[in-house]
Amino acid sequence: MPKFTLEEIIKATNGRLLTAGSHPQITGVSIDSRSLVPGDVFFALKGPNFDGHDFAAAAAEKGAAAIVCGRELDLPATWPGAVIKVPDTLLAYGDLARYHRQRYTIPVIGITGSNGKTTTKELSAAVLGARYHVVKTEKNYNNEIGLPQTLFQIDETTEAVVVEMGMRGPGQIAYLTRLAQPTVGVVTNIGVTHLELLGTQEAIAAAKGELIAGLPPSGLAVLNGDDPLVTPMARKFPGETLFYSLKRPDDHGETEPALYLVESATEGDQEVVLVDGRWGKFEFTLPLLGRHNIANALAALIVGLSLGLTRDQVVRGLQRVNPVENRLRKIEVGGITVLDDTYNASPPSVRAALEVLSNMKNPGRKIAVLGDMLELGPLAREAHHQIGELTAAYGCKALFAYGPLSVATTEGAAQKGVYARHFTTKDELWEELKTYLTSGDTVLFKGSRGMAMETLVEKVIAHN
Ligand code: ATP
Ligand code: MG
Repeated sequence: MPKFTLEEIIKATNGRLLTAGSHPQITGVSIDSRSLVPGDVFFALKGPNFDGHDFAAAAAEKGAAAIVCGRELDLPATWPGAVIKVPDTLLAYGDLARYHRQRYTIPVIGITGSNGKTTTKELSAAVLGARYHVVKTEKNYNNEIGLPQTLFQIDETTEAVVVEMGMRGPGQIAYLTRLAQPTVGVVTNIGVTHLELLGTQEAIAAAKGELIAGLPPSGLAVLNGDDPLVTPMARKFPGETLFYSLKRPDDHGETEPALYLVESATEGDQEVVLVDGRWGKFEFTLPLLGRHNIANALAALIVGLSLGLTRDQVVRGLQRVNPVENRLRKIEVGGITVLDDTYNASPPSVRAALEVLSNMKNPGRKIAVLGDMLELGPLAREAHHQIGELTAAYGCKALFAYGPLSVATTEGAAQKGVYARHFTTKDELWEELKTYLTSGDTVLFKGSRGMAMETLVEKVIAHN
């Protein structure tokens, strides 16, 4: 854990010392009194459902060396720690993380985009892990609390850092970029997932562009060369940009890819992929399924290759990626093949998953079980209708749809001749799906996080 003097904390957070205390050294950072260890500085953060100030006394009792707070506190008189007051404890927490990150001259890779951030983060960390000691964002901790948490993990042994940056509104990526000071910025794509929050795709693109805008001129931008909302980010960036692409370069021009897909084939649980570009032609196996994951892998490979890893190292590193929970996981149960992609859903990601379903070599029926795609705003009806039509284009025999928006999915599918059923409860859906499924079927489950489609996957597993 990072060490700070009291003076460093005061300076980094622009705080005011209320009580000096008697601990000269701070040996860790905590925002949770339950996991606090003696010597930590405790930041009293305020969330929607809690106020860290209510736990300051508990933090003091557990041996906090200092407390950073936004208001006066009632603390045990015998506690020997220091109290620092700041206008905003969350910003102060970020400022200290930024200060800590600045102590190290190491590559920091920031990853943002509408879809594929966590997967690309895991792939990049796996690739870099073939040569470097890597600190990475745990799970999906990609916001103004999770990012500082990751930065505080950096120590003398760290050789590279990979952070995921999420976005809930304009300015947030700029804020996270200011804290992490990335030397490499990756933008995976701009989808329509946050439309309701930010208005238009252009607004989303502007917000996501904040990562590239925040890179130093000596930095590197790694951009999806196939996304027309991503490629313009290179124009305003004075540093180097490397594009990746799932297409051969003929139709590119100014977005000539540094690495591109030549061909790929699905073999069991893996994609066997041939790529070409400035590092020459080479093949790798990717232990994840789907074209979207090949794109994510291309981004990760560029990150590794541009940081000096050899082709052999990056290819070896990729093998070590952990499957990320509920993201296109293949499960065989009682003769039925389940594709669990229930983590989340947006139009491009449902298309990607349907493509994986249609590529599965299993001889039996292909079935899609789809929940609503949320946060699409005014585009919702049309988007669901189109996905319904796509179930036919990708060879689905049947569609089982759940949620109010999915009425349109059912209509689109039925118009194209798919056996399409709509349900208002998951129980009803399950009752019918249970009798419909037979051995040899391949079933894709997908929907937005709020639809929690994984409960249906659990039912299939328990039943078979
Ligand atoms: P979140 O915003 O929840 O943090 P994320 O951006 O981290 O999401 P992942 O967790 O990597 O994204 O993937 C979530 C889902 O997005 C996957 O299950 C998959 O369906 C889809 N997805 C992943 N990569 C891509 C991609 N490159 N293009 C389109 N869709 C993708
Ligand atoms: Mg994520």
